[in-house]
This record gives sequence, C-alpha cells and structure tokens, in this order.
Amino acid sequence: MKKQEQKILIMGTGISGLSTGYWLQKAGYPITFIEKKDQAGGSMHTVRKEGFTIDFGPNSGLDSSSFFHPILEDLGIEDKILYASDLAKNRYILKNHRLVKMPMGPLSLLSTPLFSIRGKLAIFREPWVKRGDVPESVAGFVERRFGREFLDYAINPFISGVYAGDPEHLSVREALPKLYALEEKYGSVIRGAIQGRKERKKRAEKAKIASRMFSFSGGMQTLATSIEGHLRKKGAEFLYQREVTNLEKTRNGYKIKFSHTSKGKKILDSLESGQIVLSLPAGPASGVLKKLDPVFSGILSGIEYPPVLVLYLVFRSDDIASGENGFGFLIPEVEKASFLGAIYSSTLFPQTLADHPEKNLRSFTVFIGGARTSLPDLDKDPVMRKKVEETAIGELQKILQAKNPPMFRESRFWPSAIPQYNMGYDTVIRARENFEKNFPGLYIRANYVDGISLSDCLTAGHKKAEEIIQILNGKKEKE
Ligand SMILES: Cc1cc2nc3c(=O)[nH]c(=O)nc-3n(C[C@H](O)[C@H](O)[C@H](O)COP(=O)(O)OP(=O)(O)OC[C@H]3O[C@@H](n4cnc5c(N)ncnc54)[C@H](O)[C@@H]3O)c2cc1C
Repeated sequence: MKKQEQKILIMGTGISGLSTGYWLQKAGYPITFIEKKDQAGGSMHTVRKEGFTIDFGPNSGLDSSSFFHPILEDLGIEDKILYASDLAKNRYILKNHRLVKMPMGPLSLLSTPLFSIRGKLAIFREPWVKRGDVPESVAGFVERRFGREFLDYAINPFISGVYAGDPEHLSVREALPKLYALEEKYGSVIRGAIQGRKERKKRAEKAKIASRMFSFSGGMQTLATSIEGHLRKKGAEFLYQREVTNLEKTRNGYKIKFSHTSKGKKILDSLESGQIVLSLPAGPASGVLKKLDPVFSGILSGIEYPPVLVLYLVFRSDDIASGENGFGFLIPEVEKASFLGAIYSSTLFPQTLADHPEKNLRSFTVFIGGARTSLPDLDKDPVMRKKVEETAIGELQKILQAKNPPMFRESRFWPSAIPQYNMGYDTVIRARENFEKNFPGLYIRANYVDGISLSDCLTAGHKKAEEIIQILNGKKEKE
C-alpha cells in the first residue's frame, strides 16, 4: 500500500501525540488526530487573563532532547523561545519555616545548614555503600545510599516537584532510571556521576544539568499550537471535541468509536484505520481498551494519577520582604505544610507579566496535593477549594514575608495530574509490550511509559514514530 493511503489515527493531542504525529507526517504518512477537548496541548495548558500569561501545566521544559531544536527550527518558532533567567540556578528548600538554598556542589554541601554533620557524612559515604539486590522504592534506594536526611530534605521534595509523588511508593528503577543506572553501572551514584561527566565530555554530549530551561512567548502551549498549525498546513486533520469511547478489531484493522455533541445532541460516530497511536492518559486508554484487551485495560486503570491544584498568584513586589529569589522552593513532607512548593514564575520568565498594565509585580505558581496529600475533587467542592487555596496563600505569605494578600489569583484543578511509576511498574511496561505484539497496528505513546517530562515525551515520540515507520516499511516485524 502507498504511504498516502496509510492513514494513521492518533488519539490525543498532548505532546506525546503531537510529537509522534510530527515525525510520521514528515515521513509522508497522512495523519488524523482525534481529541476530546477543543484545542491541542493536553497538559500543556496556558491561559491569558488580565495581561498575565499563566501556565497551569508544565511551566518550563529542558532542551535536553536532541529533537527539540530541529523541531523548533522546522516550525519556524525559534524566535518565540524564552530561556529562564540565570537566577533559576537558585533553588530553595523550606526547613523550619525558612528558605535554605539547595547546595549544588560539594563545597556548598559542606557548608549548607540543610543537613546536619551526621547527614553530610552519610552523603559523603555513598561511594562505599554496597549495591542493592532487591527491587526498591525511591525512598528505600536513597535512604540506603545517602541516609535519611538526604531522603527527607532533598529527594522527598524533589519527587514532589517532578512527580507530585511519594518516594515511598515510586519505583527507583522506573521513576529515576538514570539514578538507578548509576548504581547498576558504577556501583555508586556519586562515582557514576563523576565518571559519566568525564565520558560525556569526551563525547561532547549535553547533560540534563547543562541543558537550558525554556518556555515560549505566549506560554508553553505555544509549542502545541505551533506543532498543530504546522501539521495542519501540511494536510493533517484535527478532529476536536471527540471523545473516543471504544476500540474494536475489524477485518482490515480497527474501528474507533467516539462521541461528539452537535446542536446539543450527543452523536456517536466511528473511524477505521489499520494504524492507531494511543496518546491518551492511562485512565481514558483503559476505558477505550476495556473490550479489546480487558487485562491490559485493568493494568492501565491501576496506574495512580494523584490530583493536583495549581494556584497562580500575583503579588505587588513592594509587599514582599523575603530576599530569596530563583527557580522557587520545595517543601519536604516532614515540614508538614499545606502545599508542595512554589515556582517563582515571573523570576524565571518575566515576559509572562509584560502585558499587564501595572509594573513591579511578581507571580508565583503554587502546587497543592499530589500523592502525599489526599485532595478531594475540588471542581465539585468550591467551599473546600477556597479553604485549600486560602490556607496555602496564608502559608506562602509567611514564607515570602508578604504584608498583603495577592492582587490576582487563578487556579486549575487536575483530578488526575501525573502518572506515578510506582513499585511493580515493570508490569505496566511488559503489559504495554505484550499489547503492541498482540494487536499489530496499535501503538502506545503516552507519558505513563518512557518518562513524564516534556523532553522525555519529545524523545519517545521520535522513537515511536521511527518504530512505526520501520514496521510500515516492512523492515521490522513485531517480535
Ligand atoms: C500540573 C503539571 C505540571 C507539570 N510540569 C511539568 C514541567 O514543568 N516540566 C515538564 O517537563 N513536564 C511537566 N509536566 C509533565 C508533562 O507536562 C506531561 O507529562 C506531558 O505534557 C504529558 O503529555 P501527553 O501527551 O503524554 O499527555 P496529555 O498532555 O495528558 O495529553 C493527552 C490528551 O488526550 C486527550 N484525551 C483524553 N481522553 C481522551 C479521549 N477519550 N478521547 C480523545 N482524547 C482524549 C486529552 O484531552 C489530552 O489532550 C507537568 C504535568 C502537569 C499535569
């Protein structure tokens, strides 16, 4: 069959679906996207209100994917990229109600008040700790190698910042694969990091630490709308406000069933294709696959996605007495605060305030909930939502030493924010492999496999597209 006749359907227009579609279209395949919402982006969700550019999903990404710059160049949006202020290297941890700067090297580690002398000794002893021999949680791995204080005041807040997760439940092998691999390969994280740096230097390769933190003018969703515009111009079809409900096998491929609303009426419709990429979160994917593969569907429905409330706040600069400034701060669970941490949004990207008439403002993005808190559905409980927001604002005001409440606030509740790569996650990875083997022509490309960051999703989108292209070219049989 000619390429032009092999229409590929992609469910979901988050970064996973868009990046896979981008490479498939580049290889000459016609693409149709089918999306529940009325716009592209998924978790990349930017709102512009009263002159503020608010990112309720990812606030920034790292340009560590080797596909990032080539894609931007091709889209013609290199001039829209914003790099974070140099202040972003300052990161803080809340300890005893005060912000303490995160040590970023051995010297600052020696002098930091973040860890006691005993805590520091445990960290420096790490190269001599023996390898683990059983599957471990992130907490188990870190406590064994670096001690309890490092777990409580470095990794616990770091995991909140990345996964909104709980290190006691996350599997170190799947959630922090690079950290895990250092022990596997070098027998020590510290020794491995030093050795890895030397090896990368030799290969002139970029490490994530050396990668730059980006956003876009117009916010992170600019990336999604730009990819969408580019693909559409080259013939891709985008079917919005279509919620896929079911997928079934037909003689020549698969039929997807979806619903959409027209003139107030719910209409059921369907599309057929031999090649379908599922770029949906695990929950909706589980629903779609319930009849086709009940076992895989069951495994997907078991993936934890904790809720997160994202609260965007703007203060008048003169109201804030705290001198700390940088990327933001994270709060260790042992500090027992009502929120996980805050990003100093306007410090990173001052342009996000530029369209507001009043100057001398500062914006903050506060994250509440995650796996270590149990938030109810705040979209259904406005009284509780207000209480949760007020508590967090009160605590933030104390930390920032802000004498007045914020002059602007806006929030978004994510009932299912980020997939947790919990203990036993290899079951999910294996089940996905089996599913793709058992149903040739169906592919899984979403953030519940191969990493949750934008940069991981960009890299994995390219890899999945290459795999599909090889299969369609007949060069690769599904083993
Ligand atoms: C609050 C938050 C903050 C984050 N911060 C960062 C950050 O700072 N940096 C970073 O690198 N990463 C961050 N992430 C992670 C990153 O944004 C996500 O992992 C990534 O964007 C997920 O992309 P995706 O395409 O896999 O899924 P999604 O973006 O969730 O896209 C899935 C798409 O499928 C659609 N869909 C769902 N059900 C159906 C259905 N039945 N039929 C049709 N369509 C359907 C959805 O509407 C959506 O558009 C953050 C995530 C969240 C939630």
